[in-house]
Amino acid sequence: MEAGAGDGARALLRILRDLPGGLRAEELLAPHTTFRIGGRAFALYEPPTEDALAEAVVRARSHGFPWRMLGGGSKLLIPDRGFPGLVLSTAGLRSWHEEGEFLRVGAGVPLARVARRGAWALAGIPGTVGGAVAMNAGTRHGSIAEQVVWVQALLPTGRVHTFSPAECGFTYRDSLFRRLRLPVLAVGLRLQPCQDLAPFLRERAKSQPLGLPSAGCVFRNPPDGRSAGWLIDQCGLKGARIGDAVVSEHHANFICNLGHARASDVLELVDRVQDTVVSEFGVWLKLELEVVGE
Ligand SMILES: Cc1cc2nc3c(=O)[nH]c(=O)nc-3n(C[C@H](O)[C@H](O)[C@H](O)COP(=O)(O)OP(=O)(O)OC[C@H]3O[C@@H](n4cnc5c(N)ncnc54)[C@H](O)[C@@H]3O)c2cc1C
Repeated sequence: MEAGAGDGARALLRILRDLPGGLRAEELLAPHTTFRIGGRAFALYEPPTEDALAEAVVRARSHGFPWRMLGGGSKLLIPDRGFPGLVLSTAGLRSWHEEGEFLRVGAGVPLARVARRGAWALAGIPGTVGGAVAMNAGTRHGSIAEQVVWVQALLPTGRVHTFSPAECGFTYRDSLFRRLRLPVLAVGLRLQPCQDLAPFLRERAKSQPLGLPSAGCVFRNPPDGRSAGWLIDQCGLKGARIGDAVVSEHHANFICNLGHARASDVLELVDRVQDTVVSEFGVWLKLELEVVGE
């Protein structure tokens, strides 16, 4: 934590302390991510209701604190210096209502639970429903955008708006909510008939390095149809390592944490991969991994 962090943490505690739910100062973020990397936030707040989340955002904004949504932390790289602001965890937003083929869920519901209930194309993707909507998560079998009926999110004015699928601005692994940093509060989904997920989960276990901490695919696939993993593999970068950050031997688009990787190691490895691929193939690989604070 940098100098002055204690003041920031204390100020955040002062402005949020009357809100319900868990509020922790100077919280280490690494354990809240699947990469297990990253420093401390001034504060981490876990609102128990959508109203409390909305109120915390309004207060952080009006006091000029940076703030950030955190779902399962499965797409995030937190810098070693941490995050000088408020991290809002959706872990407490787990409402679940079913009506026929429709499901209304809170943003913090684990995606795996929804996949089991009727979203087989998303089986095996870690994280929460809110994070999946923000990232438009998906597999080669489909993405969450195809099942979204509506999304309730907080506007910068503090008002809650219900977005139709057309208003969500879904593109490949992206959405309006991520681009404009609009907190997703709840999501309406159309369920598919249940399927046996075992074959999908087996397929993923074969193709992904699930035994080591990571944040999934690091780079977006380029628009020319070649996959980022294939390009990285062709450059002979599997196994390339800086500190404890390594390009997976299993899937070249994954960088894994061998134990004590720092964010700076990961970023240096990202630079090396981008430089090598652009000089070999003339393709600049864009990040899919989200570096907090960039
Ligand atoms: C082993 C592994 C395999 C993976 N496989 C896949 C895959 O097959 N397909 C795929 O698409 N992804 C995959 N991922 C990446 C990741 O799991 C998905 O992007 C996931 O949907 C992110 O959800 P999350 O809750 O963890 O989001 P986080 O990592 O917490 O956040 C990701 C982004 O969403 C924002 N966000 C989170 N919650 C909200 C909210 N409620 N409102 C607004 N913004 C929010 C965050 O601020 C951040 O910008 C994989 C990751 C790992 C570690």
